[in-house]
Formats: sequence, C-alpha cells, structure tokens
Amino acid sequence: MHSLAVHYLIIKAIAKSISEMAKKPFTLQYPEEREMVADNYRGVHKLDIETCIGCGACARICPNQTITMLEPAAKGGKKLPSINLERCLFCGLCEEVCPTKCLVLTKSYDFERMDKREFVMLPSDLK
Ligand code: SF4
Ligand code: SF4
Repeated sequence: MHSLAVHYLIIKAIAKSISEMAKKPFTLQYPEEREMVADNYRGVHKLDIETCIGCGACARICPNQTITMLEPAAKGGKKLPSINLERCLFCGLCEEVCPTKCLVLTKSYDFERMDKREFVMLPSDLK
C-alpha cells in the first residue's frame, strides 16, 4: 500500500478515536445509575401481606409454577405466596388475577443473586 494511503488511514483512525472520546458514554454506573424503564415494564413483585386473602389464584394462574402458597405461620393465619424469581416469566398474570390487587409487578429489575436459592422470595421479601 502507498505510504500516503497508510498515513491517511492512521489519521482517519485517530480522528475517529478523538471524536468517540468526546461523546457521552452509553454505559451507566450501575447500581448507582439506573436505566429508565417503559411505563408498561413488568419487574419484581410487591405483595401487601395485609390485604392478601390467601386465595391462591396467583399460584393457579401462573404458567410456570413460579408461585407456591405457604402454609400459615400460626394457627388461624392465612396462606401467603412465595415467588421463585428464577422461574418467573414476568407475564403479569398473577397481578391481573389477584382479587384484592395486593400483588403487583413493580418497575424494579434489581434481582441479581449469587446463589440460585436466593431467587425464592418469601412473602416478607416481597416489599
Ligand atoms: S409474572 Fe407470570 S410467571 Fe411470574 S409469577 Fe406471575 S404469573 Fe407467574
Ligand atoms: S396475592 Fe392475590 S391472588 Fe395471590 S393469594 Fe394473595 S390475594 Fe390471592
């Protein structure tokens, strides 16, 4: 290749590098910075234990057997849902079917875990 052409390519590459350096970065400093999510985004569940009536409709509608109804902790108590996020499709059917609207999908996508057993969310975890 002619040396003039080589010089041209080097200068072009340097110019491109400088112009890229001047641009705003695409990456975010997660977890301090978070991506904005769409209005209809479906993320991690939130459960209001007080208004849950323990009917189990959420567990029955779930297409991926993600929800397990836990037996009452004390006599006279009610069953409450536990959710295995590892299996969840985030389809939102459990929210749709809940008669008291106590189970909702939030905009949170923050559920990375180091141990797969930690994906199982107890009712008290679903805040
Ligand atoms: S969002 Fe869908 S897959 Fe996830 S727990 Fe609810 S019904 Fe099951
Ligand atoms: S979360 Fe809703 S659907 Fe599920 S057991 Fe409670 S009241 Fe029933």
